[in-house]
Amino acid sequence: MSDYYKPNRKPDWNYGGNKWRLSRSKIDLFTECARCFYVDNKLGVARPPGFPFNLNSAVDALLKKEFDIHRVAKNAHPIMKQYGVDAVPFEHPSMNIWRENFKGITHRHEPTGFTVSGAVDDIWVNPKGELIVVDYKSTSKDEKIEVLDKDWHDGYKRQMEVYQWLLRQNGFKVADQGYFVYANAGRDKKAFDGVLEFDVTLVPHKGNAGWVEGTLLDIKRCLDDEKIPNPADDCDYCRYREATGRVLMTQHQKNAPPTPSKKRTRTSSDADTLFS
Ligand code: SF4
Repeated sequence: MSDYYKPNRKPDWNYGGNKWRLSRSKIDLFTECARCFYVDNKLGVARPPGFPFNLNSAVDALLKKEFDIHRVAKNAHPIMKQYGVDAVPFEHPSMNIWRENFKGITHRHEPTGFTVSGAVDDIWVNPKGELIVVDYKSTSKDEKIEVLDKDWHDGYKRQMEVYQWLLRQNGFKVADQGYFVYANAGRDKKAFDGVLEFDVTLVPHKGNAGWVEGTLLDIKRCLDDEKIPNPADDCDYCRYREATGRVLMTQHQKNAPPTPSKKRTRTSSDADTLFS
């Protein structure tokens, strides 16, 4: 068993426990599949974590350091000038908390009682005093990245919109326009030579956080319901898990030693009931 995955978490961390918070990644999980969200947050069994993206984390850390130089100097980073963005990195005493995973920007949402949180990569500020939410992304693609037009980019956009919503709930003026600082590692060199070269682009996104309030209410209804939500239409894992459960249960029954008692033993149709 992997040291990194503990399927059953302590009840404190589940919905109703004193440590439970609704992070922006949990909101995204709900949008992706209400059933997975419910099993994780209410029943306390999370999905196994993905493999850590260490190269992406390194790019994030270095971009933070780079923008922090301009935050201290109170001047624009060259990429802002290159793309005509009239702003400087935002300086605030809570900036490091807002950027820290498991802390982030928080807001107590009265209609649901949820503490909503999200850790932002960066915030800039324009001359009107409006905050600009910025997210760093890194990848390696052949094409130059200038727009986010793929279906799977919707999650990135929702992520930015949650941060915009959180900052507004904390009383800040926030511009709808946010930016992704996209670092794209090129593959067209003759050799690696221990160096990855990145093309860095600034990709705008005009956020609309109007969906957030309604989604929080939907999440509240989901968590307060005893009924388990349906699986997502386009995910095969529940069908795989249920089919696996059935064959394993049947196999266990075949292998179990016969019991002399008159007690009724489980049959494969019981397994069907258990896993349906
Ligand atoms: S359908 Fe997929 S995403 Fe949803 S609960 Fe099942 S395994 Fe999780």
